[in-house]
This record gives sequence, C-alpha cells and structure tokens, in this order.
Amino acid sequence: MKLVVDLDKCYKSGECYYNHPELFSMGEDGFPQVRVEALNDAELRRHADEAIEVCPAAAIRLD
Ligand code: SF4
Repeated sequence: MKLVVDLDKCYKSGECYYNHPELFSMGEDGFPQVRVEALNDAELRRHADEAIEVCPAAAIRLD
C-alpha cells in the first residue's frame, strides 16, 4: 500500500501535513509530499486512513 496525493485536486489546505507530519511534509510550493514509501505498519495505516477521511479535497488515496 502506498499513499498518493493527487496534486490536481489538492488545494494546499494543510490538514494532512499539520495533523500527520509522520506521513506528510510541506513542500516549498505548499503542496504536501508523502514521507513514507510503504504503509506496512498498522498504526501508520490508521493515520493514513484518517488523513484520507479528513482531506477536504478528497485528494489522498491508497494505491
Ligand atoms: S489535506 Fe488534502 S487538500 Fe489539504 S493539503 Fe493535504 S492533500 Fe491537499
């Protein structure tokens, strides 16, 4: 499982990197960058599910 941010949908609201800095960081352009390669850890997976649920643009998904 891999976290993916659709930058065409994202409007830089920041919830993902403010609430889950273990998963995302803010890039210089204000868009989020995914910090983890694979979600093998159950706790990280739970955080990822939360981030997906909270994103106002529905821009985050798991592939
Ligand atoms: S929460 Fe969604 S809209 Fe906001 S910065 Fe993250 S990916 Fe973009």
